[in-house]
Amino acid sequence: MAQRAMYSFRGDTRDDATVRDHGGFAPKFMLEKHAGGFDGYVACGNKTARRLGCNCPGTTEADLLRGGRNEFLKIMEKPINLQAHVMFNKAGYISTALNADETYAGHQYRMGGLMYEYSIQEAAARFRIAAKIPGLVNGWRVYLDHVNIGQSELIAITPRGGVELTFISPVPYRYITHVGFK
Ligand SMILES: [Zn+2]
Repeated sequence: MAQRAMYSFRGDTRDDATVRDHGGFAPKFMLEKHAGGFDGYVACGNKTARRLGCNCPGTTEADLLRGGRNEFLKIMEKPINLQAHVMFNKAGYISTALNADETYAGHQYRMGGLMYEYSIQEAAARFRIAAKIPGLVNGWRVYLDHVNIGQSELIAITPRGGVELTFISPVPYRYITHVGFK
């Protein structure tokens, strides 16, 4: 397993101070567990500045990091779910572009760091996932920032030949740099 510097880009409506105060980016699918759903999370005043999540049960920083690890294991057991995300963009993960030219307009962020890279088959073997990996997802690459899932904060997957890196985990602000506006 090789470790490599992996960086990707995202255009976002939120400015740098807002992203910093929210502690980074969190996948929408986790925030919908908040009372009132995603909108309730956005409006929530029970937050600690510069920490991910809020102080409500189920959406604390620890909950969100754990939620990313659990979702990764679910995807590895059933990779078809991530294929659905790639096709329909409805899963609520954090989509980022490997090429800075392919982001949406708005505030531009670079995120990532040193990650361990696996083929999806290597990841399935390493993390003892019993499920057979379907041919549909051959060529997908998996990235984690630690060798063990339990220590990993950044967990991302890129489809075959993909120009997109999909973060399943939240991306804490310390892994994010504001690089401009377009
Ligand atoms: Zn809350």
